[in-house]
Amino acid sequence: MSDCLFCKMVSGEIAPDKVYEDKDVLAFRDVNPQAPLHVLVIPKAHITTLNDVDEANAALLGKMYHAVKKITQQEGVAEDGFRTVMNCNQDGGQTVFHIHLHLLAGRALQWPPG
Ligand code: AMP
Ligand code: ZN
Repeated sequence: MSDCLFCKMVSGEIAPDKVYEDKDVLAFRDVNPQAPLHVLVIPKAHITTLNDVDEANAALLGKMYHAVKKITQQEGVAEDGFRTVMNCNQDGGQTVFHIHLHLLAGRALQWPPG
């Protein structure tokens, strides 16, 4: 999608602070980090919200979580632990409408989230 911020990162029009990339997935540091490590993991294919996941694209979610495993090992946070969050639409607090997984680590995180 030409007007999507995260599609622009996939195409290279905007350069993200990249931490991981493969054929299907891109991961980069959040510009407004909420923890010492705050990475966004996105599918390269545009999916607007979690409501748009279907039979044809659902495998990308598994690939995003496989990337999480690689990134947490790479960043050295796998053993201490981490949190993944995906926000959907208004009540979920979604502000960028290309699905993304927040990977938060590097401090003890509160529960429940606000
Ligand atoms: P959400 O509110 O779940 O849609 O998350 C969107 C996230 O994108 C927020 O945590 C923002 O800080 C982050 N974000 C927005 N613009 C950028 C950018 N240019 N580079 C990296 N992260 C961004
Ligand atoms: Zn997009």
